[in-house]
Amino acid sequence: MSKGLVIITGASSGIGEATARLFARLGYPLLLLARRLPRLEALDLPDTLCRQVDVCDRDALLAAVREAEAKFGPADALINNAGVMLLGDMPAQAPEEWDRMIDVNVKGVLNGIHAVLAGMVERRHGTIINVSSTSGRKTYPQHVAYVGTKHAVHALSENLREEVSPHNVRVVLIAPGACNTELQTITTNNSIKEGFAAWKDSIGGVILQPQEVADAIRFAYEMPQNVCIREIMLASTNQPV
Ligand code: NDP
Repeated sequence: MSKGLVIITGASSGIGEATARLFARLGYPLLLLARRLPRLEALDLPDTLCRQVDVCDRDALLAAVREAEAKFGPADALINNAGVMLLGDMPAQAPEEWDRMIDVNVKGVLNGIHAVLAGMVERRHGTIINVSSTSGRKTYPQHVAYVGTKHAVHALSENLREEVSPHNVRVVLIAPGACNTELQTITTNNSIKEGFAAWKDSIGGVILQPQEVADAIRFAYEMPQNVCIREIMLASTNQPV
């Protein structure tokens, strides 16, 4: 039987890119979304449609999903992975940074769900995998707005799972700890960035690799449809918090 369409947001780097490479090797047709289209196209993966989509643009996201479904058949999985992290000290952080995190990390996740959910419910089949974070369960210094967005992803995922489980649709949370990606690079406060590098050194310099998170996503997705892995929280063994 041919494999169903897998949609990955934020596939141009890090966890999304590693997941795209893994799922392409496993033979899934893919829709890859991000703002940096050349990075998606450079992956050069088979049976893959790449589209430049900002997850905050609900119409563009929906149009890309419909285009991919016309080509590959209905969406079987959405990996809602696109995210941004702008760490800051609350008294000093520009509110525009909170806005961006809320727009991408929360509204972007809801926009992805909106694009696929009705079809999954109608077909009584499908999986939504939301990439949250240990920041969706815990709190960390200088993470206030980011932690808020990831707690929102945890909460909305659990509530959605309750709502769609009678329709045989799975909702899975993947909650990684620190992972070696570009995520830390966009924080605008340099002393916080240096602090993260020092913290990484303090735990032996070993954090998760994106491929390890991709393996967890694969594990959850490839369980039979009657098994819903509700949440996987994973972090480097060295990460104490
Ligand atoms: P990266 O920065 O490497 O990747 C983030 C991805 O999100 C990129 O592909 C980026 O693509 C995409 N993205 C950002 N903004 C938008 C947007 N507006 N529209 C569409 N795509 C967007 O970081 P990670 O791989 O680490 O991040 C992936 C997810 O993992 C995030 O949700 C993050 O919060 C989560 N996470 C990461 C951890 C870590 O330590 N790295 C730990 C816990 C969770 P582009 O810029 O081309 O649009």
